[in-house]
Amino acid sequence: MTIVQGLHHITAVAADPQRNADFYTRVLGLRLVKKTVNQDDPSSYHLYYGDDRGRPGTAMTFFPFPGVPAGRAGRGQPLETRFSVPADAIPAWRSQLEDAGVPVTPGDTDIPMLQFHDPDGLPLALIGDAPSALAADTRGETAIRGFSGMSLASHRPAATARVLTELLDYAESGAGVGGTRFTSVDAPLARHIDLVDGAAPGTPGYGTVHHVAFRVADRPALLERLERLRAWQLPCSGEVDRFYFRSVYFREPGGMLFEIATDDPGFDVDEPLSSLGQSLMLTADHEPMRAAIEAHLPSLETP
Ligand code: ZN
Repeated sequence: MTIVQGLHHITAVAADPQRNADFYTRVLGLRLVKKTVNQDDPSSYHLYYGDDRGRPGTAMTFFPFPGVPAGRAGRGQPLETRFSVPADAIPAWRSQLEDAGVPVTPGDTDIPMLQFHDPDGLPLALIGDAPSALAADTRGETAIRGFSGMSLASHRPAATARVLTELLDYAESGAGVGGTRFTSVDAPLARHIDLVDGAAPGTPGYGTVHHVAFRVADRPALLERLERLRAWQLPCSGEVDRFYFRSVYFREPGGMLFEIATDDPGFDVDEPLSSLGQSLMLTADHEPMRAAIEAHLPSLETP
């Protein structure tokens, strides 16, 4: 088995937390699995959406930064976030998105695919490639099972390809959607990365991905990869405790911020699975400031 097993989570920037929560829970049917604050800036939310348990490989997370300018997804950034659904669910999803006023473009691929944008302009796609082993959860048969993967638009594709294959356990696997496909062969989901060519340069801001996190089982696996990052002399954060997982961040040579994150302990470490996402959760460092943090956060109605 490989050490790194596909994607753990994807984190993007949003403008308005309420609009963001409405879209990802009501339109895309994901579960809000954690409502917390940005650990580095507790005046803004960090919202996590996923399957009914918030499993690694399903977690789409957002920093809704008040007042952040609009970004433009492009080169030097992760580009298109791709969710996996059953192939026969694509027509139902098309109707559902169009009924919600979301313009949809069928992808030009052999596998059924719908491309669209979230309310902030973040490029998204539904891919009809959910493996039958990934059973439906309480959200129903057509529900998003997790990520299919992501496309990346690197400033230095050859260098990014080397990071994917030599540090993150991907193998080049032919043509993808708009570029070269890399697959994490042992990953149960969130397996595909397509390195795309020819994108215009991106600018950070809302509607763009902030970073992509790759998945390892536990802390020993994380520390093993940290050693490798240091051997490569790639500047990195060192080990960071993100409370729901442990992480290492590094800027890959093509300009993108990557993270490696552990499966454990998971989102039910501080609240029961049955009520994930219902209360504002704070780490021990922020808990003493709860009243001030809550007074500062914008109001947010969540399911
Ligand atoms: Zn992250």
